[in-house]
Amino acid sequence: MSDRVREVVDLVRERLVFLREIGAREVTRVAAPAQRGSAPIQARGSQAEGPSRGAPATAGKGVAPAAAGAGARAAAQVEVLETAAPSLLDADRYVLPPGASPAEGLEALRVEEIGDCKRCKLWRGRTRIVFGSGNPKARLMFVGEGPGADEDDQGLPFVGRAGQKLTEIIEKGMGIPRSEVYIANIIKCRPPENRDPEAEEIAACEGFLLKQIDIIRPKVVVALGKFAAQTLLRSKMPISSLRGRFWRYRDCLLMPTFHPAFLLRQYTPENRRIVWEDLKKVKQALDAPDGSVR
Ligand code: SF4
Repeated sequence: MSDRVREVVDLVRERLVFLREIGAREVTRVAAPAQRGSAPIQARGSQAEGPSRGAPATAGKGVAPAAAGAGARAAAQVEVLETAAPSLLDADRYVLPPGASPAEGLEALRVEEIGDCKRCKLWRGRTRIVFGSGNPKARLMFVGEGPGADEDDQGLPFVGRAGQKLTEIIEKGMGIPRSEVYIANIIKCRPPENRDPEAEEIAACEGFLLKQIDIIRPKVVVALGKFAAQTLLRSKMPISSLRGRFWRYRDCLLMPTFHPAFLLRQYTPENRRIVWEDLKKVKQALDAPDGSVR
């Protein structure tokens, strides 16, 4: 057996062990990452959209056939709820300057706009601003609450124990290299003692995340944990009610699920199964022909 074949066999074995650990009973094919712009998700308000923003679908839900196109591999339907944050649907989108790439847009945001930010009091305790990292053209984005000690130290998101669990979920569970997704937080500086960010801190910082989302234009955003989900969706519903289904969020689909730190604390078969179910739906939406999920 050649080294390359052995390497592939080891990777497959590792992934199967992980999938068995999280209670997966089937393995779905993961689509190769598509170039952003080749098939953008249909903008709301377009002709093909179906129910208008002002006219929620029956019982507050929009259900659309996701596998109608040739080559569709996803399950028959991807269900999308109306958003809990309509103000964010209506808000202006950040538009890249003509000719600028997403990578350049992110860098300009990081350097020129955020810079040595002191817009809220969290700057006093930070070591580094944790801007975000990953593929500037990612189709899948993960959003957490804010940096912890390891992230503050390294200036990178999700690099501590919870980050390692997240990497495991992305790579071994979903079969996607971490470098293909983008990971960021709602706030960019570590709150003292890892407390929840305060309202004025979120108000000062969240705009940066919205610009990141507008620049990257992912198809799916996964909100990690109660705080991120409630903040992004402007909702007070418990994570147990928010998770497991897609919410329309700006121009993408938002799937709330448990935070990997919660999984580490309560690593039960039930919690692992729940996260796996949520992420299977995310893979299904990523695999579905763009424009058919709405
Ligand atoms: S948390 Fe955000 S708004 Fe506050 S200082 Fe850091 S970068 Fe600026």
